[in-house]
Amino acid sequence: MPQIERRHAVPVKIGSVVVGSGAPVVVQSMTNTDTADVLSTVQQIAALARAGSELVRVTVNNDAAAKAVPAIVEGVRAKGWETPIIGDFHYNGHQLLRNYPECAKALAKYRINPGNVSIGRKDDDNFRTMVEVAVEYQKPVRIGVNWGSLDQALLTRMMDVNSKLPDPLPAREVMMEAMVVSALDNAAAAERYGLRRDQIVLSAKVSGVRDLIDVYSQLAARCDYALHLGLTEAGMGMKGVVASTAGLSPLLLAGIGDTIRVSLTPTPGGDRCEEVRCAQQILQSLGIRSFMPQVTSCPGCGRTTSTYFQELAERIQSYLVEQMPAWKKQYAGVEELKLAVMGCVVNGPGESKHANIGISLPGTFEEPKAPVYVDGKLFTTLKGDRIVEEFQAILDDYVEKRYGRVLIEA
Ligand code: SF4
Repeated sequence: MPQIERRHAVPVKIGSVVVGSGAPVVVQSMTNTDTADVLSTVQQIAALARAGSELVRVTVNNDAAAKAVPAIVEGVRAKGWETPIIGDFHYNGHQLLRNYPECAKALAKYRINPGNVSIGRKDDDNFRTMVEVAVEYQKPVRIGVNWGSLDQALLTRMMDVNSKLPDPLPAREVMMEAMVVSALDNAAAAERYGLRRDQIVLSAKVSGVRDLIDVYSQLAARCDYALHLGLTEAGMGMKGVVASTAGLSPLLLAGIGDTIRVSLTPTPGGDRCEEVRCAQQILQSLGIRSFMPQVTSCPGCGRTTSTYFQELAERIQSYLVEQMPAWKKQYAGVEELKLAVMGCVVNGPGESKHANIGISLPGTFEEPKAPVYVDGKLFTTLKGDRIVEEFQAILDDYVEKRYGRVLIEA
């Protein structure tokens, strides 16, 4: 796969993780527990970290949340995770960061929303206070503009100027430009107040796919700050996954984006880690990073009248998810493994030959046997009731032999 040329971005150190060009594109996520509930928040951060989230953000919205932050960070470390914890601040961040220095010290980065930090003020003293705390404790910040909370004074000014032009631009373009200007102006102000360029990450989130591509293309062309990419309020289920993929992919393929978050709305009681797995899958599908062995399976058709092959594909996928935490430590490079689980011999052997290990199950009216290919060659033909178990044994054996027993430090 040809390498993607990344846009140059000044690297930013966030705890133990580096974000910027030269570093891999970092996957991040955000908790949805009440931050004041230390136990639930620690558990969710640990689950997100186990799923592969390399940075985790928590909202710090009130005194109770700010008080809880040091215990949360301690609890996550006690569970063995070094994942940097980021604080998400709105409206009262200047007060919370000043009033709770232990919170300010414990966080690895602060997210500042310039659209709501200085509401009702003529100056930017609240923004300045937050930057000064970051300077004092040597923390990076993300200046995160969001079109749902865009600086209304700035937008109104820009709309006024536009309306007086002989040939005014469409309102959408003025809005996109206001997002970019808000991010860049606030980054410049943060530098004036003492932050270095390698302490600043920018984001400009919108919920429309085309808007996202336009706004980040502009931002990328006009600065060299590291960029946090994501569609805000991506939505639920398939809509959220597809919209995030459609929005992030063109940017990532153009080398834009140093850290990503997929903001899926979980179903009630649903698994928050879905957003991590989705972000990883986007990066892996684009050939940017590898996280998990990939299973190629055909959609099935009239030639597969039973659900047997779908069940096999699902069982193999679940088996990989279960094994990966241990495999990652034992087998370096196992995330590059490619499997094929196919429904019949039409494309089965061909697709199997492109994978490390592939199996074609018998389609309707085919002989009840399943040829298995290993590294492009017919390895064996499985028959009978134990095809799944036997295929799993071939997989285990291949992983052991191919990726060796390299013990990687946790
Ligand atoms: S590989 Fe066979 S079962 Fe799968 S979609 Fe193609 S023809 Fe149908």
